[in-house]
Amino acid sequence: MSLRIGIDLGGSKIEAVALDAHGSEALRKRVLTPRGDYEGTVVAVTSLVGEIGAGSVGVGIPGAVSRLTGLVKNANSTWLIGRPLKEDLERALGRPVRLENDANCFALSEAVDGAGDGARVVFGVILGTGVGGGIVVERQVLVGRNAIAGEWGHNPLPLPGPKDLPLPRCYCGRSGCIETYLCGPALECEHRSLTGQERNAREVALADGEAIERYVERMARSLAAVVNVLDPDVIVLGGGLSNIERLYSDVPRLWTRYIFSDHVATRLLRNMHGDSSGVRGAAWLWNE
Ligand SMILES: [Zn+2]
Repeated sequence: MSLRIGIDLGGSKIEAVALDAHGSEALRKRVLTPRGDYEGTVVAVTSLVGEIGAGSVGVGIPGAVSRLTGLVKNANSTWLIGRPLKEDLERALGRPVRLENDANCFALSEAVDGAGDGARVVFGVILGTGVGGGIVVERQVLVGRNAIAGEWGHNPLPLPGPKDLPLPRCYCGRSGCIETYLCGPALECEHRSLTGQERNAREVALADGEAIERYVERMARSLAAVVNVLDPDVIVLGGGLSNIERLYSDVPRLWTRYIFSDHVATRLLRNMHGDSSGVRGAAWLWNE
């Protein structure tokens, strides 16, 4: 039985994992990302796969592959943008490669054998310096017509009230995006403007003040909108802010008032695979 090889192509490191037929890690390797160097990045991925040997290859990238052009788009590793990465990797490796957004890989990993194991519809959320998301249905990534399915971070925050104004500007060109309220820096910034204190997101959460109250309430509104559209079985949180314990009790308590249902069975869960979710999900892109 050959291996499932997963590659997580991050901005600072490239990580590779090989999963056996049972999903156990046969081996793991990592190298530094040749930042700014596209050809070097292709070589680095190719050599990692070469060292591991035979197996299917899935790659998670901080971006998406345009359905229109086949080129990488929306990547914060900007040297990948506009490049035919899938094609170049396939040529260099001599085998088919599946390329997918890293938030989608996170959702897939958690849906296949993580917190969402056994669930039919899983919405995976990354809460870090940015806010991303991915949808997995019956252990398959839902890519979407524009390759943006699950990208809820740049929807507007629902029902903005006086405490949410003025709408923050977002790097995407719009204002009031969910990401501008729910990313880690936003939580720290809000605490600073309310108290004058410099604290990291974890400390803000533990401090139990107004900033985290607002954060939890905004997340309830934002996820309620997802539940109303997608109605997932499970929502799994990942990224640095997923360690905030109270999210898992407070958000489901608050979201009922915004969800169009008398009873909400959707579960909000912490990820099981932590930092390994991206690379494991890339391996699971070959999941037939
Ligand atoms: Zn935005």
